[in-house]
Amino acid sequence: MSNTLPDMTTPRRILVVEDEAAIANAVAARLRAEGFAVEVAGDGAVAVDAVRRLRPDLVVLDIMLPGLDGLEVCRRIQADRPVPVIMLTARDDETDLLVGLAVGADDYLTKPFSIRELAARVRALLRRVERMQEAGRNQPPMLLGDLEINLAERRVRRAGAEVHLTPTEFELLVHLAGRPRAVLPRERLLAEVWGWADTSGTRTVDSHVKALRRKLGADVIRTVHGVGYALEVPA
Ligand code: CA
Repeated sequence: MSNTLPDMTTPRRILVVEDEAAIANAVAARLRAEGFAVEVAGDGAVAVDAVRRLRPDLVVLDIMLPGLDGLEVCRRIQADRPVPVIMLTARDDETDLLVGLAVGADDYLTKPFSIRELAARVRALLRRVERMQEAGRNQPPMLLGDLEINLAERRVRRAGAEVHLTPTEFELLVHLAGRPRAVLPRERLLAEVWGWADTSGTRTVDSHVKALRRKLGADVIRTVHGVGYALEVPA
């Protein structure tokens, strides 16, 4: 697989949010060396401002921050505009991880992580988001009961009210909506939406489904225990 982004005319902007200067600097240096424009924010409040000001293409966000923690930062930045987020978590802290995915992180790495691996995840997530945007262009909206998915504009409305979804939530919804009422196994969703062949990440799917239900209403997605999920066409 190629490691370069397609047709990179302007550098993609990345915001790195981490209070530990050694980690922040190492991550920023690596990403700059790969051609990204990088800014660093050392605490949560600065990060929220920086996202509004810079409109980054992706945010690398540490959970453990002074003041506003990473989860709250993620909630606030996703409320304004969907932005891809890779979260950094402490090892084995699964609660943080699941909450992080529920508040809108697209991917995560546990500390200590390899800077190379992080750079690879950054590229993979950007590619995934750009591919989705490309695929949605010129597509007609999907109408499922009172649910409207506008692929070209990447907007979702339920009963006329706009619902803000993160890039991964949007893609998961589009996958489910492509085959309404059909049960899609979690492993398949993981492979198709996240591109992960490893099935140990199925709880990631659960967390994102939880977030979709919270935002769209619990009746939109049906759980088929032990198998997966199906999109129900809301009345
Ligand atoms: Ca930290």
